[in-house]
Amino acid sequence: MTDSLSKLKSIYHRVSDIKNAAAVLDWDQETYMPPGSGNARAHQSTTLETLAHEIATSNELGDLLHSLHDYALEQPEHSNDRRLIEVGLEDYEKNSKLSPELVGKIAGAVSRAKDAWRDARAENNFKAFAPHLTDLIELNREKAEAFGYSEHLYDALLDEYEPGLTAGRLDSIFDPLRSELVSLVDTIADAPEVDTSILRRTYPHQQQWDFGVDIITSFGYDFNRGRQDLSAHPFTINFSIDDVRITTRIDENFFNPGFFGTLHEAGHGLYEQGIDHSLARLPLARGTSLGIHESQSRFWENLVGRSRPFWVGHFDKLRSYFPGLPASATPESFYRAVNAVNRSFIRVEADELTYNLHIMLRYELEKSIFEGTVAVDDLPDAWNQKMHDYLELTPPSNDKGVLQDIHWALGAFGYFPTYAIGNLMSTQLYDALKKDIPGTEELIEKGSFDDILDWMKQKIHRHGRKMTAEDLMISATGSSLDSSSWLRYARTKYADIYGL
Ligand code: ZN
Repeated sequence: MTDSLSKLKSIYHRVSDIKNAAAVLDWDQETYMPPGSGNARAHQSTTLETLAHEIATSNELGDLLHSLHDYALEQPEHSNDRRLIEVGLEDYEKNSKLSPELVGKIAGAVSRAKDAWRDARAENNFKAFAPHLTDLIELNREKAEAFGYSEHLYDALLDEYEPGLTAGRLDSIFDPLRSELVSLVDTIADAPEVDTSILRRTYPHQQQWDFGVDIITSFGYDFNRGRQDLSAHPFTINFSIDDVRITTRIDENFFNPGFFGTLHEAGHGLYEQGIDHSLARLPLARGTSLGIHESQSRFWENLVGRSRPFWVGHFDKLRSYFPGLPASATPESFYRAVNAVNRSFIRVEADELTYNLHIMLRYELEKSIFEGTVAVDDLPDAWNQKMHDYLELTPPSNDKGVLQDIHWALGAFGYFPTYAIGNLMSTQLYDALKKDIPGTEELIEKGSFDDILDWMKQKIHRHGRKMTAEDLMISATGSSLDSSSWLRYARTKYADIYGL
């Protein structure tokens, strides 16, 4: 058995090395690659991805995994070896359900759709994108049928990003949340506006960069095992547990995107840097679901970075980086400004509160598409109707509506809900953290984040994919995914800010 096990691990090491080498190429493409080298890079990436996929779906790997199944069951339930074989088998069986033809067709359709989407958005021309969207929907339908599902076809798509979650469960969480949110946003719209002018002044590039680096270093992001670069769309990518990179973008005339984007990606990075080294080069060495991943980014971005204790404790530091801030600015005025709620068209610019409505809108449309109740041609109208119902806005054009996100052009249906799930999980985790460490808010104010990061690392990070999202939530917080904690947090926070 030990022979088979070491053989299995050596195969996984090869797959991991190839995938991580491909990731270096991806990172380079988004950061430093000269624009003219796109063609050659696409070939290189495809070759490496195909190689990794061939090994990961090989008969040799399948035979090894099956031969080790009984051995796995004899091992302690949460041992690395047992979970490696269990997760390995699940991955293998899932991968094997997709024919190489379908995988190839999806890759081709995505690469055409991405370009078509960029042009369509620039020209505000949904009709030009619609045929590509139709193709991707059909291919995703085929994919879902290949994976199989018990209730909704959409469950199979959701499972790709949030394993185990179903549309039925999501509906039961989102339905009550939606009505509460709509009415809370409505109440806030009638309250006196929060002054956000302090955020819209000149914040020089270098000082923004330095301030962000200062703060995420204090969070515990390890620059000895990571680095930060600039990119058009911020992301986190890892080549190993000891090389987890993040990117940010900076707008010199607006404080929020650079600073909160940096905290957000650092939250993702801390998760990947915190995975236990015993899982290195194995399929267990990454975040367990996108929802859990987003709970980590949102925790540092919103629950820490948009909290009153944070700004009370860090306002002098902010001023030292930006000495031009007006004397009238206070920790309280800054805290209120970074938490202002505004109905807006664009998801990535949305505040903490309305963000979840943007997500629910997308989730509902995706579900309708796959249930066949909304046709592709009717999507722009369906989108605009929901924007009106939830946020009382009508997008003036499709680039500010249905064409704004790249996700559908990537064929990523079932991805959006994980953003809202991450928000809900983040406050559930925060409640549990505050129970275990009663002085959490004082620690945030002091900028002393070691105990907080260590708690996250013990409860979430170190486990990688050894534990499922559901198991992590239950062991860390005592309950499954649920919206009551987030709603309590939102009601309290905004009642205080808006004097409701
Ligand atoms: Zn994120």
